[in-house]
Amino acid sequence: MKYSALKNFIGGEFVSYDGEFLDVQCPLDGSTISSVPISNAETINQAVLAAKKTFPIWSSTPIKERATVFYRYRNLLEKNMTELSELVQEENGKTISESIAEVEKSIEVTEFACSLPQITAGEVLEVSKGVECRIENSPLGVVASITPFNFPNMVPNWTIPNALMLGNCMILKPSELVPISANRIAELLKEAGLPDGVFNVVHGGKEAVEAICDHPGIHAVSFVGSTKVAKLVYARATSKFKRALTLGGAKNHLIVLPDANVGMTASNVAASMSGCAGQRCMAASAMVAVGEVEHIIQELVNEAKKIIPGKNLGSVISEQAKDRIENYITEAERDGAKILLDGRNYKVQGKENGFYVGPTVIDYVKPEMKIAKEEVFGPVLSIIRTDNVDNALSIQQSSFYGNAASVFTQSGGLAKYIAERASAGMIGVNIGVPVPREPFSFGGWNESKFGACDITGKSSIEFWTKLKKTTVKWNPEAKTNWMS
Ligand code: NAD
Repeated sequence: MKYSALKNFIGGEFVSYDGEFLDVQCPLDGSTISSVPISNAETINQAVLAAKKTFPIWSSTPIKERATVFYRYRNLLEKNMTELSELVQEENGKTISESIAEVEKSIEVTEFACSLPQITAGEVLEVSKGVECRIENSPLGVVASITPFNFPNMVPNWTIPNALMLGNCMILKPSELVPISANRIAELLKEAGLPDGVFNVVHGGKEAVEAICDHPGIHAVSFVGSTKVAKLVYARATSKFKRALTLGGAKNHLIVLPDANVGMTASNVAASMSGCAGQRCMAASAMVAVGEVEHIIQELVNEAKKIIPGKNLGSVISEQAKDRIENYITEAERDGAKILLDGRNYKVQGKENGFYVGPTVIDYVKPEMKIAKEEVFGPVLSIIRTDNVDNALSIQQSSFYGNAASVFTQSGGLAKYIAERASAGMIGVNIGVPVPREPFSFGGWNESKFGACDITGKSSIEFWTKLKKTTVKWNPEAKTNWMS
C-alpha cells in the first residue's frame, strides 16, 4: 500500500484506531492505496472532548488573530498545490486540472474566511440617551462537518475556514472513500498555527455520523452528500435539537433554446455533463431541448466525442458506481431512448482495472423515464425534447431536486423569464456549471438542501454563529423610558 493505515486526528495528534478498517482504492487503476478507520461512537466522543477543551480559548481569541492562521493556511494550500491536487486525483480519480481547480476553490473560500473580521464587525447604536445596543456573532461551540467523496479537498474547505474563523471548533468526518486529503488538511492547519483541538478528523461511516448527530456536545451539523443521507442526518440531528444544514443530491436541467450560440452552448453543456466524470452536484444531467435545436445537438455530440477517458476524462469513484451508471444507460435504451454516444464498457489501456465510463449522450428521453428523474452521477446527458419554453420549465420544476438550472439563449427576455421561474437555488444563463463565486453563497433548493442558510459565502455566517444582543447603560443620570 502506498500510504500506511490512516489515523484519526484528535487534539492536534494523529491517533491510531484499534478497530475495523476499510481499504481505500485509487479509482484510476483499482489499486488499494491505504486503509481507513471505521471509527465508533467512542472515537467521536474523544474528538468532542478535545474540541470542547479548546473551545473557550479559541473562541475568545480575537477574530483578527484567528485570521492570521487562515492567511497562513491559504498560503500553504497554494504552496502545496501540486501535492494536494495529485492526492485528490489519486483518491478521487478526477483529472489533474480538475483537481487543481478544486484546490483553487479551497483557496478562494479561505480568502473569503480571511475577510470575516471586516464582514462580521457587528453593529452598535445609541438606542436612547446614554443607552447602547450592540449585536455580534457568537460561535456555536463544537460543530461537525460530514463530507462526500466527490470533492475531497474543496467540500471540507467549504466549511472549515468559515466555521473556525467564526470561533467554532470542528470535527470533520470525511467520506471513507477519499479520506487521505482530510488528514493533509489537518496537517496544513497545524502547520498554519491552528491550536490543537480546534480541528479534528474522525474517519468512518454510518456509526460515526450517527454518533455526531446524537452527541450532546456537538451544537451544529453540516452535511454534504446524497439526498437519502441528507434527510437522515437532518432528521436525526434536529431531533436532538441541533442546528443542521444538509445538502443533498441534484438533477440539473439545462434548457437550450433554438437561438442559443451553437459553439458556446455545445462546449458548455459537454463540459458540464462530463467534468469530474459527471460526479458533481452541479453537473448537467438533463438537457431540455426546446424546438428546432438539431444543429446544437449535433455540435454537442461532436464536442463530447473529444472527451476521452484516461485523457481529459477521469474515472468514476468505484466499480459499483460504474455499474450503477451503466445500468441507467441500458435501462433508458430499453425504454426507447436513443443513444447518440455510448460510454459503456470503456477500458483505458494500461489501466484496465480502473473505473471508467465514457461520455454518453442519450436523446429522446421522456420525462417519466427513471434516467430523467433520478441522479445518475456519471458523465451521462439525457436530452428531453419539447416544443415550448413553458413545457421546458415545467419539466425542470417537476424535479424533486433544485440545485442548479441553466438556460442557453441569446434573448435577454427569455433568459430572464426562465431564470425567474426555474425552481433551483443556483441559476445559470449561458453557463453550464453556475457555481457562485465567493462571497455569493452555495446552496440549492427543494430536496437538494435541508435547513436554512447556504453552506458558503455570507449566508454561512448565519449558520455558524448565534447572535448576541447586549444593551449597556453606564451613566446613572440617563433618563428612564418604557424600556428601562
Ligand atoms: P453519501 O450520501 O453516500 O455520503 C456522504 C457522507 O455520508 C459520507 O461521509 C458517508 O460516510 C456518510 N454516509 C453514507 N451513508 C450513510 C448513512 N446511511 N448514514 C449516515 N452517514 C452515511 O454521498 P457520496 O456518495 O459520498 O456523495 C455523492 C452525493 O453527494 C451525490 O448525491 C451528490 O449530488 C452529493 N453532493 C451534493 C453537493 C451539494 O452541494 N448539494 C455537493 C457535493 C456532493
